[in-house]
Amino acid sequence: MPWIDEEKCTGCNICIKKCSVNAITIEGEKAKINMEECIRCGICHSVCPEEAVRHDSEKIPDDVKANVEKTKGFMELCAKHLGDDKEKDKCLIRMKKYFNKEKIVAVKTLDELEKLK
Ligand code: SF4
Ligand code: SF4
Repeated sequence: MPWIDEEKCTGCNICIKKCSVNAITIEGEKAKINMEECIRCGICHSVCPEEAVRHDSEKIPDDVKANVEKTKGFMELCAKHLGDDKEKDKCLIRMKKYFNKEKIVAVKTLDELEKLK
């Protein structure tokens, strides 16, 4: 999924004019993609003169970091609200199960997408 690197975006409007489903707006002089409307055509990525429209895969390190931080936060909250430090370990196990389920969903989805060819 595309996203806008606000450091690079100059608000030139080119991507907005080329988006066939009007999924891009300007907010605070920066382009913003409405992912509910975006059909993942990739045109905005091709036309941006500043390379400000980036690929989703570039966010993997940030996404991993966010997931780890989220897990650490839940572990702390479980210990705090349930009144026992041992709850941290139980919470960690639950979060591992959750992310493992997400992995299985992704793998199975990829298998199904192969059949769409
Ligand atoms: S084309 Fe690129 S620089 Fe111009 S508004 Fe869109 S994202 Fe920003
Ligand atoms: S990928 Fe296509 S539909 Fe999505 S914002 Fe870019 S131009 Fe619009």
